[in-house]
Amino acid sequence: MKEKGILFVLSGPSGVGKGTVRKALFEQDTELKYSISMTTRPIREGEQEGVDYFYRTREQFENMIDENKMLEYAEYVGNYYGTPKAYVEEMLDKGHDVFLEIEVQGAMQVKQNFPHGVFIFLIPPSLEELKNRIIDRGTESEHLISSRLDEAKNEIEMMEAYDYVVVNDDVDHAVRKVQSIVQSEHCKRERI
Ligand code: 5GP
Repeated sequence: MKEKGILFVLSGPSGVGKGTVRKALFEQDTELKYSISMTTRPIREGEQEGVDYFYRTREQFENMIDENKMLEYAEYVGNYYGTPKAYVEEMLDKGHDVFLEIEVQGAMQVKQNFPHGVFIFLIPPSLEELKNRIIDRGTESEHLISSRLDEAKNEIEMMEAYDYVVVNDDVDHAVRKVQSIVQSEHCKRERI
């Protein structure tokens, strides 16, 4: 029987650049299968249905939850985000590695169901740097910036639950580290 694939989960505090690292990784890596998430947040300019996310109404999302079709889900800043179960299970069964890029609450749910998954935590070089990135991102008020930063501090406390920590000082550098984690996990499992 074919070996199952490995489930890799990338998460980290909001504003750390998970999306950027993931996109740069997938520009280079064709072996990993990216699981496209489902969300109730509105589509942003430049995004595409079925590429960036599956955009659904709250009702449609809640039906997926009720029908037990989500591997994990979380509410984040007023919207649902989650991983549809079917694709991940199918790819793993076929022996492909699957990559999730999700926030911390969701990652902890995955850890319960996939204790052999590989959990990677992306951190900023410092909290000061994270604050600058949140500010640079745009239009958030002083109050929102400080509550996002508080949230990020709470999220950083979850670091201990992860197998690997990658400092995102530079995107290419972070991508190379994630690629070496993927390789090492294969070497760990290699047998003849
Ligand atoms: P954004 O709205 O900026 O695309 O994403 C907001 C947050 O939701 C990010 O931290 C992102 O990693 C997270 N996220 C994206 N997809 C999922 C998912 O399927 N499940 C969970 N739990 N979080 C997700």
